[in-house]
Amino acid sequence: MTSNLRFQMVGEAFKKKPLDITAPGERPCDYFAAHVFNREKMYKYLPKDVYEKMIDVIDGGARLDRKVADAVAAGMISWAKENGVTHYTHWFQPLTEGTAEKHDSFIEHDHKGGMIEEFSGKLLVQQEPDASSFPSGGIRSTFEARGYSAWDPTSPVFIIDDTLVIPTVFISYSGEALDYKAPLLRALRAVSEAATAVCHYFDPAVKKVTSNLGWEQEYFLVDEGLYAARPDLLLTGRTLMGHDSAKNQQMDDHYFGSIPERVAAFMRDLEIQALMLGIPVKTRHNEVAPNQFEVAPIFEDTNLAVDHNMLLMSVMKRVARKHGFRALLHEKPFAGINGSGKHNNWSLSTDTGVLLHAPGKTAEQNLRFATFIVETLMGVYRHNGLLKASIMSATNAHRLGANEAPPAIISSFLGKQLSELLDHIEKADKEDLFAMDGKQGMKLDIPEIPELLIDNTDRNRTSPFAFTGNRFEFRAVGSEANCASAMITLNSAVAEALVSFKQRVDERISEYAKKPAYAEGSGHSPVYHAIIDVLREDIGTCHPIRFDGNGYSDEWKAEAARRGLDTETSCPVIFERYLDKDSVRMFESLGVMSQKELEARNEVKWETYTKKIQIEARVLGDLSMNHIIPVATSYQSLLLQNVEHMRAVFPEAKAAQLNARNLKLIEEIAERTATIETLVEELVEARKRANKIADEHQRAIAYHDTIAPMFDKIRYQIDKLELIVDDSLWPLPKYRELLFIR
Ligand code: ADP
Ligand code: MG
Repeated sequence: MTSNLRFQMVGEAFKKKPLDITAPGERPCDYFAAHVFNREKMYKYLPKDVYEKMIDVIDGGARLDRKVADAVAAGMISWAKENGVTHYTHWFQPLTEGTAEKHDSFIEHDHKGGMIEEFSGKLLVQQEPDASSFPSGGIRSTFEARGYSAWDPTSPVFIIDDTLVIPTVFISYSGEALDYKAPLLRALRAVSEAATAVCHYFDPAVKKVTSNLGWEQEYFLVDEGLYAARPDLLLTGRTLMGHDSAKNQQMDDHYFGSIPERVAAFMRDLEIQALMLGIPVKTRHNEVAPNQFEVAPIFEDTNLAVDHNMLLMSVMKRVARKHGFRALLHEKPFAGINGSGKHNNWSLSTDTGVLLHAPGKTAEQNLRFATFIVETLMGVYRHNGLLKASIMSATNAHRLGANEAPPAIISSFLGKQLSELLDHIEKADKEDLFAMDGKQGMKLDIPEIPELLIDNTDRNRTSPFAFTGNRFEFRAVGSEANCASAMITLNSAVAEALVSFKQRVDERISEYAKKPAYAEGSGHSPVYHAIIDVLREDIGTCHPIRFDGNGYSDEWKAEAARRGLDTETSCPVIFERYLDKDSVRMFESLGVMSQKELEARNEVKWETYTKKIQIEARVLGDLSMNHIIPVATSYQSLLLQNVEHMRAVFPEAKAAQLNARNLKLIEEIAERTATIETLVEELVEARKRANKIADEHQRAIAYHDTIAPMFDKIRYQIDKLELIVDDSLWPLPKYRELLFIR
């Protein structure tokens, strides 16, 4: 056999030493955000009045006028030049996942035959990238050919290498969003307004509510050489074949284990780069599967957190290569062991410093707490199918429903204490809730919830949307996903619930105000009575979303269906939830997305789904035909030669006896390779049939129903061959080699 790339690569992976990272001399606090034009830099580089305008724009949502933009651009370029920057780019988040950028340098003709470097407010604020090949679901071809990117001043610009990177939204000339950021900003505004209005029942001083996001990014590392010898990893991000390693995660020895030296060096480097970019990374640890790790920052405002996650994913890929690794962000790179998610820890907080999803100390504070918990649950309940659509993708589909990740049914775990609080509010006699208390008059009987206790005692790993003390943790989000998708839907759903809550409470307040018994005396105001009434109603309504049991069990699937929760598992069908009447009504009423935008985005989702499965099918077919079958056949020929040689040297009966095992193997190889060949032919035929379907939606369904299910059948045969073919002939690095970094 010719030289085997796999052996060469495994050998090199063994020899690799950790890269020496020379950390900046200072402490993290000294270099944090060194590459970010943050408030500190604005203060230094902008005239005072311009600085104040910018703060108004960032914090107060004021409009940015042209003069201010010019002054900001001037400050930015002087800071950028001091840092060796020559280019700038509008950075945006197209619907392809990932980010996009096109770099321009600052140079312009000076009309005297020379060059000057220039950067104006106009260039900062708006650009027209020729981005015609980004998916737009037909919006641009149907309505207006051009798309433009516009600066999002709430996310600070930063420097990567020689380039000033400007976070932007990407929209069509007719105003439709062509990216994730535009609808995210609209959803965040909607939830802020709706929550602020509800906060006014408790504290009229609240001016603004912020949506917080703390993501936990899981990922795998593999050696770069081994990765290069796996065309499936290279082209699809996951292994399409590979027998289980005899040892993988069954000993639970990787989770929170000590971090291998090469990986630790990578993590140090990644953290330094991230901190310099202002990403407040805090936590790192080994995850459950071998070679699986996690990095998590301190939570931030959701818009910034989303940008930081996109940035971190791209920085991670770069730093990994520097260390001779490839970072795998795919949700399921390896079969048989855990996949990767990106838990989205989410909460709302006020500009007065109150965390609205955290229990308080007084009964009134806990009524507010209960309000935000219940209305979050209402949003999740009403839109559970849509929320699932928001985290669904061809790649995350491998993770959901398997016995590891949250199941493909959205439900919420509250834990014992919070469940008891809600039950108490719902079921207690109203007289008891407003019990008379001798000294203070009326007392609101809402029990206290010790924050720490909830966090430490109640953990349910199988819940896709779990309450964890002072936030909800949306765990179904995929490792590769743009968090914005989940955050657009979650914040919109909660905004809608809060708007409806406010309306119903207001109606009741005016009813109560007419009844003198409630309006007078030392008792509770009509406001409290109205809030309790509506909460009781809603606690009853959203009951079906609450589930504290084992989300992986079959009983739950049946029970969830009985409760009317969405139990669909087909990815392209789940996307239909975006076009449900309730979804369209919600997004349109909040001004987050129009029906037209939703339809266009779904076209992109279906098309992307089809393409991903199509690429996997091609790679699997190619590898089967030009890697696996030839190698298995070569080994079979060796066995055949051996059989003939045995016959030449031994008497017939003896030879037959000695050849028995080899003959069985020869037969097995013949059968398995023939099966693979037949299945690959069927796969090609199925693709041809599906490709004839003109409708994007129906084609995606055909890919899901007729093509994807064949992968495992082919893989099964290949994995069996891997076990019998001579190890020295096998061309692809095996799981045991890919998964254990030394
Ligand atoms: P765990 O793995 O125990 O869930 P981690 O510390 O790994 O916790 O990550 C938790 C994430 O949640 C961090 O990003 C953290 O900053 C974030 N977080 C903590 N409190 C809140 C909150 N109230 N709202 C949003 N995110 C939060
Ligand atoms: Mg967590």
